This record gives sequence, C-alpha cells and structure tokens, in this order.
Amino acid sequence: MKDQARSKLQSSYYTRLPKVDLHRHLEGSLRVQSLIEIARTYGITLPLRPSLKALIQVQPDDPLTFTSFLSKFQTLRMFYLSPQIISRLTFEAIQDAATDRVRYLELRFTPVALSRLKNFRLGDVMDWVCVSAWQASQANGITTRLIASVNRHEDPELARQVIDLAISRKANGIIGVDLAGNEAEYSAEPFREILKKAKDNGLSLSVHAGEWGGAENVRHAIEELGADRIAHGVRVLEDERVTALACQRGVVFEVCPTSNYHTGVFSDLSQHTLKRMLDAGLKVTINTDDPGISNITLSDEYEIACTKLGLSHQELIQTIFTAVEASFQTPEEKKTLTERLKKEIQAI
Ligand SMILES: [Zn+2]
Repeated sequence: MKDQARSKLQSSYYTRLPKVDLHRHLEGSLRVQSLIEIARTYGITLPLRPSLKALIQVQPDDPLTFTSFLSKFQTLRMFYLSPQIISRLTFEAIQDAATDRVRYLELRFTPVALSRLKNFRLGDVMDWVCVSAWQASQANGITTRLIASVNRHEDPELARQVIDLAISRKANGIIGVDLAGNEAEYSAEPFREILKKAKDNGLSLSVHAGEWGGAENVRHAIEELGADRIAHGVRVLEDERVTALACQRGVVFEVCPTSNYHTGVFSDLSQHTLKRMLDAGLKVTINTDDPGISNITLSDEYEIACTKLGLSHQELIQTIFTAVEASFQTPEEKKTLTERLKKEIQAI
C-alpha cells in the first residue's frame, strides 16, 4: 500500500468509506519493501540502476505506455520463487485492501505467471493462493473471492488447464475467470469454447476489452463470449451501437482510472471517460487494477473520481452499490454486504 496515502488520507471522506474492489490483480498488488526483503533473502540479482522500486512501480518520468507498464510485470516474475513467497504476496495484497477499508475484494491472479519461473504445478499454485487468501480474509475482516486469469497472448491450451483446475476449486474461493492480456494484437476467438466451459460449470466471466483495443472488442466480449463484466471497457463510447448494447444488457464495467492513465489509454487523467460512461447510462464500478505498480489505493481512486473526474459523492456511492450487485457472490451474500455497507456509509 502507498504509505503516504495511509497517513495523509487517514481521516478523509474517501478513506473512511467502506469499499468494494472487483478488479485487482494479485501480481500488481505488491509492497516494495517486501520485494526488497525477498530479493535480499533469495539473492535475486537485479540491475543497480534503476532501483528495484523503479523496476516495479510507475515513476513520474516513466513513459506512460503499455510497454512500460507491462515491463514491471516482467520484473515481478523473477520473484515467484517459492510457495512461501506466493503465499506472502497473497496475504499482504489482501491485508492492504482491508487496511484501505475494502470490505469485499475479488482478487484475480494469473496461475501461469506465478508458476513459470520454478515450473510449479498450476494446481499447486492455485491451492497456495486459495489457502493464503482464506487466511488473510479471516485475519483482516474482509471477504475475498478469487478469479483465475488467463492471457489471450498465451497458448489456449494453458487456459484450458487453468480453467479445468479453477472449476475443481470452486469450493475453495475461486468464483470466476478472467480473459486478460494483449487485446490489440490477439483475438479472443481461440478461447471461446474454453470460456463457455467455465460458464457452463458455474464460473462467472470478466473479459479485458476496450482498453488496448476499441469498442468492437467490448461487443465481442458481450455477444460472443457472454462476459458478465467488462474489465475496463473505457473505449466503449467510441461506438454508439456498442454503448446501447451494453446499456440494454446491463453489462457492468470495471473501471480503473489511474491504471488507464498509466498505460496511456488517456493522455491526461482529466480525459478519462468515467463520468461520460455514467451519464450514458452504463453500469460503472471503480477499482484499482494494479495498486502496487501504480502506487495507489482504492481511496485514491474514489478521490480522483470525485475531485478530478466530476463524480458527485452520491454517484460515487452508487458505483459502490453497483459493484456489490455485479459481484460474483450469491444473492444472499450480496444482500448481507449491501446492508453492512449501507449502515457503515450512514455512520460516516
Ligand atoms: Zn486488469
């Protein structure tokens, strides 16, 4: 978590709000200090310049491009050396969310990314994350559910394996799957049948679309893949027909403002389409994506939404309840969470 934010915003309205995050990647939720410790303990050799922090966290002088942002994940892959490290990173990601008053978190993780360096078995990696997520949730008073991510620029056979393993771990907290990766250059078509199998077996589906690619990818995700939620989708407004389709189907968008700015989707935060999406009648939620890489909290994103992007406090709260409704929980769980959040918001 961003240390400054913890102290600076300790008493702000945005910090005090109870929160829901539907779009947060485990691999992007690091603590810099933990990675420094891990690098020392395990003797990970890193270039002296720039610093480790600069390799894994967006810096003020970084080019704001996908390439630069994704390079941070490449460095992070050097750290997935043991079950203990993967468990620790999972625990800390959830603890940080709880400290930021996130009451309900859907944490997505990429088993292929976590397993590759040491050739861990995908199922083992998923079990480590499930166990640690459960322990962290119990210890920190937060409800966490897990989403298994697969990348569209990687072999569909790997995605098939991950999804089969996710289906068999539904009782252990995995409730959904996510298609992520390079949507500008890789079609989602090869994943159609695999994702259908996930849905047929009771897993919900989030698809990264309309971030690196245009509105057509959003349409494809809705109509062809049956996405329950669109990850980002901030370029949907480029096509009126797709916007109308999303409104009509009640599709929910997982918007992550700072991430979109850091990856160059918008050249300035003030250009972000969040407010226009709401005004167009779309269902919108606010999330962090990669808080460790972007050096942000969800409190920061709520604050940006109101102070830079023009949302009223009422609209912000509406996005929180939209997130509850769009979460991949059971109707009873949603009802319980709604009641808890209403009480907490009233007490602020
Ligand atoms: Zn994402």
